[in-house]
Amino acid sequence: MFLNGITIYNGYSFGKAFIYKEKNIIINDNLIKSDKIDYEINVFLKAYKKTIKQFKKIKLLCKGNKDKKLLFDGYILILSDKSLLEKIITLIKNKLYYAEYAVTKVISDQINLFKNVNNIYIRERANDLLDIRKRLIYNIKNIDLIDFNFLKLNYKIIIVAKDLSPSQIIQFNLDFINGYILEKGSITSHSSIISRSREIVSILGIKDIMKKVVNNDNLIIDGIKDRVYINTTNDIHKKLKTKYKSYLEKKKSLLKLKELPAVTYDGYRIKLFANIGNNNDIYNIFKYGAEGIGLYRTEFLFMDRNDFPNEEEQFNTYKQVVKFMKNKSVTIRTIDLGGDKFLSYMNFPKENSPFLGWRSIRIYKDKPEIIYTQLRAIIRASSYGRVRILFPLIISLEEVFFLKNIIEDVKTDLTNKNIKFNSKIKIGCMIETPSAAIISGHLANELDFFSIGTNDLTQFILAVDRNNVEVSNLYNPLYPSVLNLIKYIIDSIHEKNKKVCLCGELAGDLKCIRLLLGLGLDELSMNVSMIPSIKKIIRSSYITSSRRLSEKILDQKLIKDIQLILEKNNV
Ligand code: PEP
Ligand code: MG
Repeated sequence: MFLNGITIYNGYSFGKAFIYKEKNIIINDNLIKSDKIDYEINVFLKAYKKTIKQFKKIKLLCKGNKDKKLLFDGYILILSDKSLLEKIITLIKNKLYYAEYAVTKVISDQINLFKNVNNIYIRERANDLLDIRKRLIYNIKNIDLIDFNFLKLNYKIIIVAKDLSPSQIIQFNLDFINGYILEKGSITSHSSIISRSREIVSILGIKDIMKKVVNNDNLIIDGIKDRVYINTTNDIHKKLKTKYKSYLEKKKSLLKLKELPAVTYDGYRIKLFANIGNNNDIYNIFKYGAEGIGLYRTEFLFMDRNDFPNEEEQFNTYKQVVKFMKNKSVTIRTIDLGGDKFLSYMNFPKENSPFLGWRSIRIYKDKPEIIYTQLRAIIRASSYGRVRILFPLIISLEEVFFLKNIIEDVKTDLTNKNIKFNSKIKIGCMIETPSAAIISGHLANELDFFSIGTNDLTQFILAVDRNNVEVSNLYNPLYPSVLNLIKYIIDSIHEKNKKVCLCGELAGDLKCIRLLLGLGLDELSMNVSMIPSIKKIIRSSYITSSRRLSEKILDQKLIKDIQLILEKNNV
């Protein structure tokens, strides 16, 4: 039997089911009876010892990662503080608190104290305490806390979950995790975007999969046919293994295109760039034949850690990418937080509509140190290659002026300090809000280059939350309104002789490539592993017929007719 879903990253994956359930932890704040004091102290001490033991074990697994090792050394040091232990035991004894409540109270008080100290180092320690508190409470309640980072097994697993966050997927240890299956999720969420860049075979939207699968069931994801098989027959297993083998061979043969340009039969040249989310993604860039980095989503650098990276650390990270890319362009997008991307060490308000809320460059106004530090690091890295700065979620020229002023301040300061940088560094913005789309001509007077973010643009034009499974049937960039606005953006910017890239997930959609060619894009930036197949289509297309195709599509009034035309033209 198989279940149908929506593939996030295709391919085939075989493994044992590993069910992951988010726990809803409720802290018991009732009082214990006085004859239970010793028992409760014992519960705490057992959990306390277990927590130290776990941190020591994790530390051992951090071979080769000095930062992480130091982090866990710090955790063990905090836990070794006798006064912390005494305070918790005193609360159990004198106030008759349950161990879990005493731990919550003592550590939360400490966190609040740390958060108000005017020293960044101490403020950051508050996040360490959050981690420690979580693990202590899980151990008191005897619940396993899963570290995706350190999961060590002697077989491969496929994770089955309701939903997974970007920071969880970033932590996946791919030596053991072969893929994942979700009940919920959405194709353009950042969890899905990271999965594609990490090439994790995955599938979403399989209703009630958590009820249909138990741990250790044999699972197969067939990402080509959007299917999941549970404990299937030997026969089907064998057939899928054979298909997997030929899929890998086909993928390998496409790599032969890597040195060839993305050019149509009749000579239209388009550039194909890679989207990356961290420095590990660069190693596949040349294998797949990317001509540069069209979108470096830097916010992921700030996840899976406990504090903000400082200027030096960011500078070294960007410099590594820029040097690796030699003279190829590297478009670094400034940090784009909020929406569905949060940091464990930064407070975000609870918002009804986070995608319309405190996110992206709107955060820079309230926390200017974040953008100053990042821009200094990026601009310094510009002396090592071809760096371009890309700003997300722009809605107005005022925002552009605000950001250009910061860049000027940074440049002046670097000049005064005799620090090298490229004074002609190119500045661009994402066109991913209807507002930016409508004023794209004005923006083209002020900036050097542009990248259309169809993931956000689609959700804003259609008023359909890109992450909401309830309305996912409506989330589609092929609606006439979206396609006509894309055409308007491209033409408005071309009128000012500037170039336009498209870096949303649409750029890697095989069936849309001829349409995108016809619309007149200069560059496409996508998940790097898609580049060979996209290039193959471009090299077997004509720009003249692609233009005719796009004109015909722009004339359609109904999305179903657009889909029909694309299906007929499928390559
Ligand atoms: C987009 O919105 O299309 C985009 C590329 O940015 P992100 O997916 O990171 O929001
Ligand atoms: Mg976006």
